[in-house]
Amino acid sequence: MQRPLRRAGVWFGALLALAACNARSEPVQPDPDPGDLQVRITGLPDSTFRGGFTVTDGVLTSPIYTGERLLQLPIGPLTVTPVRVTDVGIGYVAAPVSVTIQSLRRDSVILRYSIAIAPRTTTNRPDETTQGKVKLLYAVPSDGADRGLDTNGTIHRMMSSAQRWLASQTRGRFLRADAADGALDITFVRLPRTDAVYLGFGAFIRDSLEKDLRAAGFTQGNTLLLTFYDGRHVDRCASAAWPPALSGTLAALYLRGAPTSSAPCAGNPFAATAIAAPGYWEFSALHEMFHLLGLVSTAAPDHTLAGHVGNDPTDLMYAGTLPWRPAVVDVSKSNYYNNDGLPAGVTNFTLSPYVITPTR
Ligand SMILES: [Zn+2]
Repeated sequence: MQRPLRRAGVWFGALLALAACNARSEPVQPDPDPGDLQVRITGLPDSTFRGGFTVTDGVLTSPIYTGERLLQLPIGPLTVTPVRVTDVGIGYVAAPVSVTIQSLRRDSVILRYSIAIAPRTTTNRPDETTQGKVKLLYAVPSDGADRGLDTNGTIHRMMSSAQRWLASQTRGRFLRADAADGALDITFVRLPRTDAVYLGFGAFIRDSLEKDLRAAGFTQGNTLLLTFYDGRHVDRCASAAWPPALSGTLAALYLRGAPTSSAPCAGNPFAATAIAAPGYWEFSALHEMFHLLGLVSTAAPDHTLAGHVGNDPTDLMYAGTLPWRPAVVDVSKSNYYNNDGLPAGVTNFTLSPYVITPTR
C-alpha cells in the first residue's frame, strides 16, 4: 500500500523553531501556504523499499517506493535528493532534482533511478566486510576483446536477475556479493595468457585461471571468485570447484565456450533487465556458485555425479541424461536447501557463511 505523505506540519514546525531563534526582532510573517509536490519514482525493481529521499536540507525523509508520493511542502525553491537503495545487493542511484513549489498548483518531479555502476578498476577495492563474500571478476585473455561487461551493466543485470530468483526460492536469501560504496565491486582483469593457451589447458582451464588470478593478488580470505571469463572453453560454458572433494575458490562462466555437443555458449543471452527472469547464464552462475559452497554434498539422498542431484531435471543442481530445465532450488528440500534444517552431514545452503539472510 502506498499512502500520500502529509507531514508538512512537522516540516514547518522545524522551520519556525529555527526562525524564532534567529530573528526575534523581525516582524511576524504569516505562515506560507503549502503547495503540493508529486514525486514519481522510476527505475527501481518492484516493491523495493530500502531508503528515502530528503528535501533541500535533510529535514524531511520519506519512504521510497516505485510509484508516486504526494507531499505538501512550503512555497519556494527546493531540491529533492534521492538516497541510494539496494535490492539483493544491487545498488540504485538517482540524481537530485530541483523544483520551485508554487501555491495553488501541483508540481511534480521524477526521480529516475538506475543501477549504481562503479568506474572500472583493475584492483580489489577495500572490502566493506570480513564476512564471506563472492568477488566478481571480468577476466579477458591477453589477446581477447574487452566488451566492457563490468561497466556497461551486463554483469549487474545478470546478478540482479539471478539473485532475485534465488531470494524468491529461499525465503529472501541470496549470496553476499563484494560491494564498495553502494555498487557491486567488479574487478577487470587482463589475464597473462592468450585465449588459445587457456583453451589448450582443456579441462584444467579453471585451475589455470585460478592460479593466474591468485598470482594477480586475488587471495582474500573468506572470498569466493565468480569469474566472467570472456574466452573459450573446449567443452563447456561453466565450471567450478566443489570443496572439499575438488578444492578451490573459483567458479567460471566461459562466455565464449565452444562445446562440440551443443550450441556455442555465446548464443545464450544475458538478462536484459535487472528484474528479468533468469536464463541460461544466470542459472549457470548460481549452479556453479552452489558448487563452490560445497553443494550438493555426497551425503545428500539424491546426490549423483560429483555435486549434483539426479532426481529432477528442474532442480538447479540437476545433472543426468535429461535436459536441464532449472526452475527450483532443491525440489525435494532434502538434498541441499531446507530452511528448517537437513540431517547431519548434508550441507545446507541456508547455513552457508556466504549467504545473506533477511532480517525481520
Ligand atoms: Zn555442476
